[in-house]
Amino acid sequence: MLYNLVIIGGGPAGLSAAINGASELDNVLLIESGRKTRFTDGSVKYERVLGGQAIGSAAIENYLGFPEGITGAQLMSLAEKQASRLGTEIVCPKHAKSLELLRDGTKLVRTKEGGEYRTKAVILANGLSYRKLDAPGIKELLNRGVQYGAPTTNPHQMGKCTICVVGGANSAGQAIMHLSQNEDAKVKVLIRGTKPIESQMSKYLVDRVHAAPNVEVMQGFSVVEASGNGKLECLTLEDVQGTRSALKADHLCIFIGAQPKVEWLSPEIVRDQRGFIGTDVALDTSHGPKLPQETSMSGVFAAGDILLGSTKRIAAGVGGGSSAVQSLHRYLAEAKLPCS
Ligand SMILES: Cc1cc2nc3c(=O)[nH]c(=O)nc-3n(C[C@H](O)[C@H](O)[C@H](O)COP(=O)(O)OP(=O)(O)OC[C@H]3O[C@@H](n4cnc5c(N)ncnc54)[C@H](O)[C@@H]3O)c2cc1C
Repeated sequence: MLYNLVIIGGGPAGLSAAINGASELDNVLLIESGRKTRFTDGSVKYERVLGGQAIGSAAIENYLGFPEGITGAQLMSLAEKQASRLGTEIVCPKHAKSLELLRDGTKLVRTKEGGEYRTKAVILANGLSYRKLDAPGIKELLNRGVQYGAPTTNPHQMGKCTICVVGGANSAGQAIMHLSQNEDAKVKVLIRGTKPIESQMSKYLVDRVHAAPNVEVMQGFSVVEASGNGKLECLTLEDVQGTRSALKADHLCIFIGAQPKVEWLSPEIVRDQRGFIGTDVALDTSHGPKLPQETSMSGVFAAGDILLGSTKRIAAGVGGGSSAVQSLHRYLAEAKLPCS
């Protein structure tokens, strides 16, 4: 079978590409790796969960059409239903492991699970992964008090506790606001640098962080160790002078940035030093004329956070997925590709 479009990634950009692609074309496939759970014995399981980073958001307040806000999980579940209803074939959990340009101009996507999908065009929308906090005890206590991103549980169910949030950008700010709704919780925000949080966080979040009575911002502190008997109990902090201190903590939510998931792509897909994919105007002329959002490989487009210079927002990913489909139509009209 020859697909018209294969999309890698089922976050906001990939789901938007699927909705826009499948509303106008047959044979649109979306490949999503799903949610990874690591168990205490070291084994790993992937479940069918789409939505990308957005499902880690407890309350999305800046996405059009939801005046009271919406959880990321709800928004993405609606988008998945919409993509399916319009005819997108979704395979999940499956991990794209290679992308090859074939002689006839079609592309071959292979998955780790043994799938092979031949397609006329590809949209790469496989986003970012959280940067890991490299300190003793973090790995061992993962999902036992330590986690990347915000807890999806109701914060009131966490009871009387101390929650530390590492990071000072917008995703941390949202988590702080969500967690601080629990008036019995103390929320301590640990920021490594000494620059005020205003330098990284949107003003609406900064104002709420400062106004919340149970939130304390601790500037100039890094987490250098996590410890506890079966679950997180204590963090060792280091200040900018190198002085260490202990802080009792029940939960640690880590938001220290992210990196593009591009390790599986061949160097034919040009990217910058940090791994972000360059398209059209960001590519030098040796790659020939390019359509908007087209990568260095003809007929392969990129959308969302993975794109060099992208705005790391749901609306931007949704817009990027949609506009990549517009370029795809021009590509399919102009490229001389086989029909089967
Ligand atoms: C906690 C948190 C809260 C946020 N809150 C907001 C908010 O309120 N408002 C806002 O505008 N933005 C928010 N953001 C940012 C927003 O979620 C991202 O900008 C957006 O999700 C990017 O979408 P994307 O589709 O480009 O990538 P992603 O969301 O990263 O999705 C990429 C998808 O690709 C999949 N994938 C990766 N590699 C492969 C592979 N090899 N094979 C198959 N699948 C693969 C991943 O599993 C993932 O599902 C938040 C981010 C976080 C982390």
